[in-house]
Amino acid sequence: MRHAVFVEPGKLEWRETPEPVLQGSGEALVRPLVVGRCDLDVAFVRGLMPMPGGSPIGHEIIGEVVALGDGVEEFSLGQRVFVPAQISCGACVNCRRGLTGRCNAVPFAASYGMGREGGFGGGLADLVRVPFAAAMLTAVPAGVDAVGLIGMADMAPDAWRAVAPHLHRHPEARVLVLGGMPPVIGLYAVGLAIALGAPVVDYVDADPRRAAVARDYGARVLEAPPLDEPYDLIVVANPTKAALEQAFRLAAPGATISSVSPAVDGAPELDTRSLYHRGITWSIGRPDCRHAHDGTLSAWANCGFCSDLVPTHQVAWDDAPEAWASDALYVAAVRS
Ligand SMILES: [Zn+2]
Ligand SMILES: [Zn+2]
Repeated sequence: MRHAVFVEPGKLEWRETPEPVLQGSGEALVRPLVVGRCDLDVAFVRGLMPMPGGSPIGHEIIGEVVALGDGVEEFSLGQRVFVPAQISCGACVNCRRGLTGRCNAVPFAASYGMGREGGFGGGLADLVRVPFAAAMLTAVPAGVDAVGLIGMADMAPDAWRAVAPHLHRHPEARVLVLGGMPPVIGLYAVGLAIALGAPVVDYVDADPRRAAVARDYGARVLEAPPLDEPYDLIVVANPTKAALEQAFRLAAPGATISSVSPAVDGAPELDTRSLYHRGITWSIGRPDCRHAHDGTLSAWANCGFCSDLVPTHQVAWDDAPEAWASDALYVAAVRS
């Protein structure tokens, strides 16, 4: 079969590789139909995050079930499903705690399309093997266009975990999103915070294209946040230590800082005495994709969150390698 691999910064290409096969009960084979380009893929393609040459790429997947191992009762052949980016068994102690990005049944952080251990391949492929079908897959709602939902596969869950659990604890939170890179995750955080009812959602970003999307979601866009009105929840979707230091300065007593990427330019300088007295919680980490997916779909179904306010540059499947290197805000490859 064909799959797309990262060759070097700026270059992806299709290559031949053996088809995956079912390796036991509880598994599924899925044929990807729509694959979105995660902000993380942009970092790989631009060389901002290291990825070995020859690595399969793509991990935002909506596909069709084409084979099922014994014991998978929850899904049927031909059904359209979301495939989460990360491999998770659903049964180990971490999965049962919701830490599905840290499953103990597979090599640490095993995922599709990120150059990680486990050999699970990438989403830009004719087939992917899903080793824990019942735990990993989620049905695509009947009658809904899969292209319009592709943002819900991966980046919206990443944004959901950055806002939803914190807003659940503090529904009146004043929310600030510091945008930049990862761009789409930051914008989804804006959209989700508004959909989930946050009374104030401010967005800071100098980029006019991203600022326009944040306005479409209903955020107030600021060049610089006011220093005299601290925030209860600050999402740092900007990979600089300056953004992180700014977030900690702007945090109200009892606030949560939620980082959706590491700082790529070094360690921040933090006034720990001030943070101690204000009582600040800092949440940083890769998302737990499967765990966050249910809440994300609920926000879509019940709260009016739409991932497709971020404009999607839709390309033919064959054109995915070139499109992955484009400067579009978001890209989805669609199999005809
Ligand atoms: Zn991703
Ligand atoms: Zn597990």
